[in-house]
Amino acid sequence: QATSIIVIGMAGSGKSTFTSALSSYHETSASSSSSSSSSPSSSSAAPPYMVNLDPAVGSLGYEPNVDIRDTVDYRRVMQQYNLGPNGGILTALNLFTTKFDQVLGILEKRANETDHIVLDTPGQIEIFTWSASGSIVTDALASAMPTVVAYIIDTPRTTAPATFMSNMLYACSILYKTKLPFILVFNKTDAQPHDFALEWMHDFEKFQEALKAGNATEPSLLATAGARGGGNAAGGPTEEQGYMNSLMNSMSLVLDEFYKNLRTVGVSSLTGDGLPSFFEAVNEARQEYITDYRPDLERLA
Ligand code: GDP
Repeated sequence: QATSIIVIGMAGSGKSTFTSALSSYHETSASSSSSSSSSPSSSSAAPPYMVNLDPAVGSLGYEPNVDIRDTVDYRRVMQQYNLGPNGGILTALNLFTTKFDQVLGILEKRANETDHIVLDTPGQIEIFTWSASGSIVTDALASAMPTVVAYIIDTPRTTAPATFMSNMLYACSILYKTKLPFILVFNKTDAQPHDFALEWMHDFEKFQEALKAGNATEPSLLATAGARGGGNAAGGPTEEQGYMNSLMNSMSLVLDEFYKNLRTVGVSSLTGDGLPSFFEAVNEARQEYITDYRPDLERLA
């Protein structure tokens, strides 16, 4: 049975590019036959089944099998209900969700023919993560088949400790909201390797050092993890920096617990680098769903 992958990410994180990369990865791995036989997912017979849930997306880099745009026209919804763009997208998603039982029926049938069902969510992250329809879609899927969340991070834009921390807190909130196995995907590793992030996640003191370097609010100063140290040359921290640093010190203790529940991969959606590791992480997450989540769902049912 297939695993469904819900792709979530901030606008600009590369969510659409990543989703297209997932859809074309199959073709490349299928045509280059057996060299990567260590990854069970690459031997899949059928391509992933693609679902687009973004009513406002212009063009997609892949051919969706199910497309919300075929069901609702968000511009007409905007006119009809006199809404702005965000209201239009949210209402379009709500309207689509009223028919999600039919979509789920299709997905359940396809689940026997493919290894992966990929769901691309709206560009404005909160429209999916904090809406009733987002929860309904997520919960319906998760009770029908193994479901995991892939949270896409814009690696080059998260090199400042403060930005990194807020991105991780957002990811943390989504983990606790969906309660599903979670994969952090550091995207754009061709432009910025994600080793600084791994270092910060595995070694709390390294993150504190980065904070203390006094550049917590200066995105450009920390292009790589190696740029730590010597940051106090410009004098002691201001009051605001002191407040930020102590807040972030406490927060990072909370996040330490969160990191333990995560799988992390670095990918480049442009070059395809890291995609095999992503599919391995999906397999692990699927296993976690079966051992940890499914009993829960069965008990509730
Ligand atoms: P979305 O808003 O999250 O769907 O983001 P897009 O997929 O539209 O990507 C936003 C920008 O990031 C585009 O200019 C992409 O070309 C770029 N981008 C996406 N993935 C990568 C990547 O792996 N490497 C690099 N260098 N750029 C990327």
